[in-house]
Amino acid sequence: MLNGIFDGIQRPLAKIKEASGTYIDRGITVNSLSRDARWAFTPTVAVGDEVAAGTPIGTVPEFSFTHKILVPPGKGGVIKTIVAADEYTVDDVVATLEDGTKLKLAHFWPVRQARPVAKKLDPVTPFLTGMRILDVLFPLTMGGTAAIPGPFGSGKTVTQQSIAKFGNADIVVYVGCGERGNEMTDVLVEFPELEDPQTGNPLMHRTVLIANTSNMPVAAREASIYTGITLAEYFRDQGYGVSIMADSTSRWAEALREISSRLEEMPAEEGYPPYLASRLAAFYERGGRVTTLAGEQGAVSIIGAVSPAGGDFSEPVTQATLRITGCFWALDASLARRRHFPAINWNRSYSLFGDILEDWYRENVAQDYPDVVERAVVLLQRESDLQEVVQLVGPDALQDQERLVIETGRILRQDFLQQNGFDPIDASCTLDKAYGMLQMMLKFYDVARAALEGGATVDEILANPVVEKINRSRYVAEDDFPAYRDDVMQALSEGFAVAA
Ligand code: ADP
Ligand code: MG
Repeated sequence: MLNGIFDGIQRPLAKIKEASGTYIDRGITVNSLSRDARWAFTPTVAVGDEVAAGTPIGTVPEFSFTHKILVPPGKGGVIKTIVAADEYTVDDVVATLEDGTKLKLAHFWPVRQARPVAKKLDPVTPFLTGMRILDVLFPLTMGGTAAIPGPFGSGKTVTQQSIAKFGNADIVVYVGCGERGNEMTDVLVEFPELEDPQTGNPLMHRTVLIANTSNMPVAAREASIYTGITLAEYFRDQGYGVSIMADSTSRWAEALREISSRLEEMPAEEGYPPYLASRLAAFYERGGRVTTLAGEQGAVSIIGAVSPAGGDFSEPVTQATLRITGCFWALDASLARRRHFPAINWNRSYSLFGDILEDWYRENVAQDYPDVVERAVVLLQRESDLQEVVQLVGPDALQDQERLVIETGRILRQDFLQQNGFDPIDASCTLDKAYGMLQMMLKFYDVARAALEGGATVDEILANPVVEKINRSRYVAEDDFPAYRDDVMQALSEGFAVAA
């Protein structure tokens, strides 16, 4: 499964190509999993052991990942036979139960049905994406759901790939759903080359790709996100943290619309079937942090891209999605045009998880972290208000203190919210570093304000070399960062020299 590239109904694309060439022939059947591959199975139960649904009976390594072979949902009993550690295919029976049930390395599951769990849990820890604007301003939780709406070319795919690469999940499921072939090719070409920042191995060794491009059958496209979420649940049930990206749920909704119209169902808004919202909700509800049947903790975090035509967020798919997901990361074409990346609009985006995570932040980042973030948010808000004034009456109408708000806001926007996905250091940022950066920027503001009162001018303050050090801080490597921050904080506490 890992390192695999499948179509919407989990047929391996490489095997399809062997069988039918570049295009998919009608009615072609290939197995999802190889029937010949032999897997090293190590049993973890013995004859006479009582097992229930979800109990691991053994392990199988795949790259550096360890699959736990679980008793399928609905089965259970006393182990009657169990094979010795050796290599087996997915068709071999590795264990039998007293009632005659045969257990194999793999089992079937209907993808439209959520796999059972013992209990759904509240979100308590953040899902860290490595992107400052998301992790600091609009955080997602482990097992939370997020929507990335944005028009064509605003950065949905790049953002999802970045989260796939740097997000703190054990397993990544990436569903390319109904996007054009050439865009999917980028993903298929790029992903196998990406290095896993956690281990240095290829990222594909803990990734499953599902590729169902716009020229593949719509029925398979409609199925693809269910295939993806079921694979994610399979890994979750073994007690792992899984992230699933769906790019894009709008194309999925269009497939739903096409199928619905061919079935001659009554169309609702914009031709979508009336059950669009409930289907979307049912998909996102399969995310979450859970206690598995075996009593371990697993999580599926869902990040779905939405591509409304023309970036019009009032259309049905965007509207239905934003009622369900906990995070709304609104991409903005005008930011992308200005080359402000990631082009996430901080005035339109939101997260419902900030308050839930507050205790975690105070314990794991810094006692005053939530307060520091709050101050930065207020400053950004004031800056955006003042920008409106500037648009109306020009910059000359502003007083020095107001100009300082604008300049600090500019630093926050350009040097904190912006992140260069193609720079080896800046591509991913820890919360500790993000916190340190905010500390510097806010301290700059405080010291500069005092200097203005002492008679300095804004231009004098901006000419101070410490400003450039703050600008450059995002390119400082994690290891060197604490010393760098201490230097800047020290320089700032000496204040800005005021011309006599
Ligand atoms: P979408 O999927 O929304 O149509 P893409 O994700 O393909 O858009 O992004 C379009 C282009 O925008 C990319 O090819 C890239 O040049 C630029 N871009 C997007 N996000 C970033 C980023 N974080 N850093 C740098 N460039 C970006
Ligand atoms: Mg895209």
